Amino acid sequence: MDASSIKRLTYLVNTAILIMVFGLMAFFIFAKAKFLVYFSFPTILIYIIGYIMISRDKLFGYVVMVYVWITIYMSFCTVCLGYDYGFHLYGMSMIPIIFYTEYMAYKLGRNSIRGIRFSLFIVGCYLVSTLSPSIFGPIYTPDVRVARAFWVVNSIIVFGFLIFYTNVLIKGTINSEESLKNQAHRDNLTKLYNRHYMGSKLDAVEDGLQNTYISMVDIDKFKNINDVYGHNAGDMVLKKVAEVMTEVCDKSIISRWGGEEFLLLTGADESSERLTDKTMKEYMEKLRTSIEATDFEYEDQHIKVTVTIGVSAKQHGERIEKWVDEADEKLYAGKNSGRNRVII
Ligand code: GH3
Ligand code: MG
Ligand code: MG
Repeated sequence: MDASSIKRLTYLVNTAILIMVFGLMAFFIFAKAKFLVYFSFPTILIYIIGYIMISRDKLFGYVVMVYVWITIYMSFCTVCLGYDYGFHLYGMSMIPIIFYTEYMAYKLGRNSIRGIRFSLFIVGCYLVSTLSPSIFGPIYTPDVRVARAFWVVNSIIVFGFLIFYTNVLIKGTINSEESLKNQAHRDNLTKLYNRHYMGSKLDAVEDGLQNTYISMVDIDKFKNINDVYGHNAGDMVLKKVAEVMTEVCDKSIISRWGGEEFLLLTGADESSERLTDKTMKEYMEKLRTSIEATDFEYEDQHIKVTVTIGVSAKQHGERIEKWVDEADEKLYAGKNSGRNRVII
């Protein structure tokens, strides 16, 4: 969410609360709860000031003012009407909202309310306002049925807030973790896994596992592409090659190993079909021909792209470095015998 949509949302929330204040004021008039009717006037004023603060971008001041006022307002309602109405429950729903506000402010790099400090303030108001009617009794005692209706509505709203904000916080945390993980594991340009992540996947290949292959895929004469069409065209080619690879090699873990080199790991998953040199060769030939047949268009120019692929099967007890070297050697054999081929 960006700053302008937060501002719009704040206007909306301010209006919703103001409408609620008018509704409650009407009820207080009906219930002859004079003190609460009077108390509604400064409350209305607070939300009118709220509009001015939002328009001047003073969101931090607005949030502090509104949260403090809501807490005081709910406390006075509890002192006056007792806790049969459920106004004191709002304190609980305020807590995740305050922590969420702190989190959003952190994300936007703005000043914020302190979650812990404000929660303690809420707890204080909650204790004072609930102890008062429990010791002295409520100041006003309108109809019990009205109290019950308020109890139900207020409880539903409070639980609604609790569920909504806790869910938003948890989902936000999961999303951030996912995106951090992606940043750490993926290559920026092609969005394929990076060398570091592929290294961990190779290390995890179980030694007893048979028929596991790596393929070293290298774009032919890529330097030429950069030289003739420019570096941006080269980047486009890298991205598109990665796309074709992702589409064709759905059985493999694909990584960008270096500049214009890609390393594919196939058959490392125990549940995958048993591979042979023959099926692996066919699989890589499909990749090679798909890249050859792809139209690489950059600013109305059609670029011819081919790849050479070296494939190597894991030998029992073989070190990872040796396995990768073998795929490299096959790749160089392919380069030396004319490029645009698969060597296994
Ligand atoms: P060969 O067929 O023997 O593989 O020749 P080649 O030109 O593909 O190989 P070489 O290793 O000589 O050149 C690789 C080039 O890839 C050099 C480098 O500038 C370029 N390169 C590496 N990373 C990137 C990148 O992220 N973007 C672009 N546009 N070029 C890159
Ligand atoms: Mg190359
Ligand atoms: Mg290379």
